[in-house]
Amino acid sequence: MDVAHHLPPQSDYKVQHELGGARFIVSAEGCRITDGEGVTMLDGMAGLWCVNIGYGRKELAEAAYDQMLELPFYNTFFKTATPPPVRLAAKIAEKMAIGNPDLTHVFFNNSGSEANDTIFRLVRYYWDLKGESKRKIFISRKNAYHGSTVASASLGGMTFMHEQGGLPIPGVEHVDQPYQFGEGFDETPEAFATRVANTIEERILAVGPENVAAFIGEPVQGAGGVIIPPNTYWPQVEAICRKYGILLVCDEVICGFGRLGHWFGHQYFGIKPDLITMAKGMSSGYLPISAVGVSRHIVDLMVEKGGEFAHGFTYSGHPTCAAVALANIEILESEGLVGRTKTVTGPYFANALKRLSDHPLVGEVRSLGLIGAIEIVSRKGTNQRFGGAEGTAGPIVRDLCIEGGLMVRAIRDSIVMCPPLTISEAEIDELVSIIEKALNAADPLL
Ligand code: PLP
Repeated sequence: MDVAHHLPPQSDYKVQHELGGARFIVSAEGCRITDGEGVTMLDGMAGLWCVNIGYGRKELAEAAYDQMLELPFYNTFFKTATPPPVRLAAKIAEKMAIGNPDLTHVFFNNSGSEANDTIFRLVRYYWDLKGESKRKIFISRKNAYHGSTVASASLGGMTFMHEQGGLPIPGVEHVDQPYQFGEGFDETPEAFATRVANTIEERILAVGPENVAAFIGEPVQGAGGVIIPPNTYWPQVEAICRKYGILLVCDEVICGFGRLGHWFGHQYFGIKPDLITMAKGMSSGYLPISAVGVSRHIVDLMVEKGGEFAHGFTYSGHPTCAAVALANIEILESEGLVGRTKTVTGPYFANALKRLSDHPLVGEVRSLGLIGAIEIVSRKGTNQRFGGAEGTAGPIVRDLCIEGGLMVRAIRDSIVMCPPLTISEAEIDELVSIIEKALNAADPLL
């Protein structure tokens, strides 16, 4: 049936047919997933960077069940509302205020892509209202991932996505990413951060500051390969945005809801974005829901000027999804999972990964909170790749990890990890030892 009828996302359909279909994941509990053959694995990816509270939480099932019986759906268009999304907006505002009390309001969508599409429209709407309609350009980074819709894929910097369908759409400029291992190997972190941040200012000047609407970036690039910028990078980006009056947008779809040991990733870097997007960990993936966090100064202008923001989705603020997201946040709070990531599991994960630094195949290990990557190189002490091109070694090591009982992803030659925030210290040790065995087994094959 999978081959006959199902077209999965981001997939090579020739490979799907050659394999005779996908590997089915049929159940899960805690940090472990079980496939259709009954094989249980540690989930090193939290589903798809999202199951922050782990699997099997009855509280979320009950929240969905209760809400479906009470009111499964009603829209939030035309001056109506339902209680769950309003409560959720207030709860999210409380978390956003920790880093930036100006982030007061929330606009709901269903996916990360839609949240970034909303940014595209809301930011341009804001500049129109402000009487600066020329400000249409978004500056983003190469190798960023902001989603798969036309606008969000354009905001993203994945060339393989742009090549299909003539993207990006006009009005998006891509500058350098802060990927020091790949693109600033011999520089100090500070010099590298300054050089890369300066590419933003150079581009602003090249296109004319009066034409630039916003800069968008993930605090830590996830799908790009867990790119953790030097600590000086984001404050420099923020200063450049402020200098030219450009809105700063953080895509918190992966970093939000505790991943970096803070409610939002920008809080770790100490910056104050004007807008943020969030999804994934917002409901731990139990139901689809996303949001855009909006600053008071943007809301104030829309209130002052009046007129309809002609944008929204049938399921914006879906009451059942919102009820589940609230139950998810309650668990993050009651189990202290954000603080635990910062002070216990994040540091433990970093230390455990360090054990792999000496492995002959490992060029770098890096992590922040509970997201991390291991770079595989052909010559220790360099950033050279096997076969001279990226993407040879990564899939081999990934497959060996999966065989060894750990679900991880290979992004080019990085093994990336993003386990549930509920992972125990013993499970972190298990994760690292499976990767170590996979690296040992890969060595003779490379
Ligand atoms: N933004 C980031 C940083 C992401 O990682 C993703 C998905 O992985 C998205 C946006 C798109 O989210 P969705 O797949 O829910 O549309």
